[in-house]
Amino acid sequence: MGRPIRLVFTVRKFFCRNSTCSRKVFTERLPDFIEASSRLTKRLRTAIQDIGFATGGKGGEHLGDKLAMPISETTVLSSLYLVPLPEIGQVHVVGVDDWSWRRGKRFGSILVNLETHKIVGLLADREAESVRQWLATHPEVDVVSRDRGKMYIDGVDSKRVLQDFPRSFAVPMSTKIL
Ligand SMILES: [Zn+2]
Repeated sequence: MGRPIRLVFTVRKFFCRNSTCSRKVFTERLPDFIEASSRLTKRLRTAIQDIGFATGGKGGEHLGDKLAMPISETTVLSSLYLVPLPEIGQVHVVGVDDWSWRRGKRFGSILVNLETHKIVGLLADREAESVRQWLATHPEVDVVSRDRGKMYIDGVDSKRVLQDFPRSFAVPMSTKIL
């Protein structure tokens, strides 16, 4: 473990004779093994993503070192960006609340599917207009619940609005992003 290796591959190249072709050269890909122009194998990328989700950037760098996967925190974070977002699906009951970009300093809005307790959206601000825009892309929403803050109420005019966050629908602490 911890011994660097260098993988050298011989791959085929195909040339296009069409003079108007914008590409001309087609290099064989290894889709099961590595993404095009990536320096990490898919297996290593997945491992780094798992480390990143568990620890974050700096922590991931430290842990990666210990596990003989020397990677920078930048690589950990950029690897997380490559993970596709989960399908949001149909949302019928949505809760709107504050979340902070920086603890107690700058706030955005968090939207939670109150039936599955999964986060379905993060908005950059707490403006009613942003909530309205999000709702416009989810016409299937029947009920909007908000915790505090009157500003959201204006964003949800055509929906049924619960004034108080019903405790039975309370969002678990783990979904709070601080
Ligand atoms: Zn071509």
